[in-house]
Amino acid sequence: MFDPTNPPETPLKAIHVENDSEADYTDLGGIIHLSSVPQDNFTVSLFSTRWDIRSIYNEAKALNVHYFVEIDSMNYETIIQDTIDTQYLLNPRPPFLYAANIYYHLQKQDDIFTNLSSSFSSVTYPIIYNDNEALPANDWGGIFIVYPDNTTEIHYHNGYNPYIIMHELTHFYTFNRMNSLTFSGVASTMLDKAMDETFAEYWLGRDLVTNSPIRNYRGNSIAIDLLDIYNIHTSAVYNNLSLNLNEDFYSWYYCAMPIAAVWEDIRLSLWFYDFDIKLLGALTPIIANDQDLHKPRFFYNILMRTSTPNAQMIINKAYSDRGLHFTPKVVSAGISNPPEGRDKNMFRIGDPVHMKVINCPQNIPLTVYVVEDQDYTDGMYISALNAIICQVSGTSDNDGVWYSSTPVMAASDVEDYDILVDKNL
Ligand SMILES: [Zn+2]
Repeated sequence: MFDPTNPPETPLKAIHVENDSEADYTDLGGIIHLSSVPQDNFTVSLFSTRWDIRSIYNEAKALNVHYFVEIDSMNYETIIQDTIDTQYLLNPRPPFLYAANIYYHLQKQDDIFTNLSSSFSSVTYPIIYNDNEALPANDWGGIFIVYPDNTTEIHYHNGYNPYIIMHELTHFYTFNRMNSLTFSGVASTMLDKAMDETFAEYWLGRDLVTNSPIRNYRGNSIAIDLLDIYNIHTSAVYNNLSLNLNEDFYSWYYCAMPIAAVWEDIRLSLWFYDFDIKLLGALTPIIANDQDLHKPRFFYNILMRTSTPNAQMIINKAYSDRGLHFTPKVVSAGISNPPEGRDKNMFRIGDPVHMKVINCPQNIPLTVYVVEDQDYTDGMYISALNAIICQVSGTSDNDGVWYSSTPVMAASDVEDYDILVDKNL
């Protein structure tokens, strides 16, 4: 069993070591070959060529340690402690917590990123600050910050929790792949964070460490694979219960959990690794802020547009199974609100015709038209429709369903009709 109070030692690769006039980085095994025994200036620093971890109370430089133990005359070892005292007598500071843990998980997450995008291997991470006591005072405290001038930083409260370490790193990866753009600008609020968090959760899920070799992964407190949009909407844990359930709600911060779960479902049913590449392919062409970027529909549309009809059905079902409805389907029926499977599309003269709309965003106004059968073109206007036989308006319910309680028409002639639904968004 893993004992979080006594973690095993794990080598740190690519860590900076200086000794006498030599300076280099450790290899994959955390080893460096020096030409002389440790001298007075022997220093091990928590930075590599691509990342740099500091205490927010000592912003000027990466954490350095100078101690070592002699194993034999040819071998020396430096163990980075969990808590490193950076206090100065005249300038008290808190200890530097779990810095090696951050370093280790940064490497692990970076392996996933560079495997997905080889060009990412030359990207320099933002400086990572630990000991930020302004963040929630537990090991869940972490934040990826984008300043108005587009510089970035990552902060942690203590760097203990691998989940939170990796989560913040994934925000940076997404930001970088999206050409240093954010989903909704720097004034983002909880109401438009869903896509940012969805990508963070999704990339994190590519190699979730359930039993970290260094610090125990305590588990995401949110079991994302069980959640749908209704769980988020009705839970006082995830919102203050004053938000309306409609398509705007899909952009709420915590809706990232069901959306990330939808993506996991699609990944497992269709593409596996290639789905990761498909998502990257959706991010990299984004070169300007778009007012729709933060809307879950934006990425739904890209996925649908770049998929075969068979894959589109699976994608659509994965979203709607978790309560996210984007593409309404309208059907005719012989009675109002027929149970599933009782839809009816052939009528005798005089039969009442009811309409039912399913898979519609919740609680939105819509109009249903019945028109004489015709051909359609993309972007066509309602005004260009053939003779409109009838037109009925309504509002979808909490399940994204609407049906006409009275017949919308009675078949009076032998003819083909089409039914159209217009979402008045
Ligand atoms: Zn986040």
